[in-house]
Amino acid sequence: MRKNIVAGNWKMNTTLNEGLELAKELDAALKGKAINCDVVIGVPATHLASIAAAIDTTKIGVAAENCADKVSGAYTGEISAAMVVSTGAKYVILGHSERRAYYGETETTLKEKTLLALANGLTPIFCIGEVLEERESGKHFDVVKAQIEGSVFNLSAEEFGKIVLAYEPVWAIGTGKTASAAQAQEIHAFIRQTVAAKYGATVADDCSILYGGSCNGANAKELFANPDVDGGLIGGAALAVDKFMPIIEAF
Ligand code: PEP
Repeated sequence: MRKNIVAGNWKMNTTLNEGLELAKELDAALKGKAINCDVVIGVPATHLASIAAAIDTTKIGVAAENCADKVSGAYTGEISAAMVVSTGAKYVILGHSERRAYYGETETTLKEKTLLALANGLTPIFCIGEVLEERESGKHFDVVKAQIEGSVFNLSAEEFGKIVLAYEPVWAIGTGKTASAAQAQEIHAFIRQTVAAKYGATVADDCSILYGGSCNGANAKELFANPDVDGGLIGGAALAVDKFMPIIEAF
C-alpha cells in the first residue's frame, strides 16, 4: 500500500544534544495528535542511537543520511547498513544530490548501497532529481529516468516494493525556489509511469514518491494534494518543530 510520508533531512546540522532536544520536541508535539502520514527524521550518524532510544519510534522513524556500499572491513570512516540497523534506525536516505555532487556517489555505488540497505532490513529513501541546466534544457525526464534505471531497476519487484523514491530538483534544494505543484505532479507521474513500465501497475501504484526542495508549511498542502506526490523530503524546515509540524499536518 502506498504511504504518505513526511521525512526530515537534518543534513550536517545540530550537535548531539541539540539533535536530541529537537527530536524530543517533535516527539512531544506529535503526542496525542491524529497524524495522517508516516513521519521520519534523517539525522547525523552520531545521533542515531541516542535519538532512537529517546523517542517513540513507532511514531517517528529514524533515518541515517547515508550508509556504506560495502558490508564491513577496512573502510575507515564508513558506516555500514548493519551498523545503522543496530542503532534502531529503520530508514536510510540514499543518493541525496549533495552526496552525488560533493562525495562523488555514482549509480554504481548507489546500487550497492541500496542492495545492502535492503538486505539489512532498512527502507531506503532513494533520491533523484535534475540540476537547473538539465531542467532548462528539457532533459529532466531523461535524467531522472537514467538515475532510476542505473540504481534501482536491478531490484526484484519485491525489493523495489520496499523502497521510497524522493524526487528532489537540485535547483529547488535549499534555494527557497520550489517546483510548482504542476511541475511536481508532471514529473512524479512520469516517474510512476517509468516504474509501471518496468514492474507493472501494482508496484508503481504502491510506490511512495516524495517531493523535496524548499517545501514548507505554506506550499506543502498544494504539493501534497497532487495524486502522484505522496509526501515530502524536507531539509531546512525540518530543523524547527514549528516549521516541520505544519508540513506533517498538511496531510
Ligand atoms: C533536502 O535537502 O533534501 C531538501 C529538500 O532541502 P530543503 O527543504 O532545505 O530545500
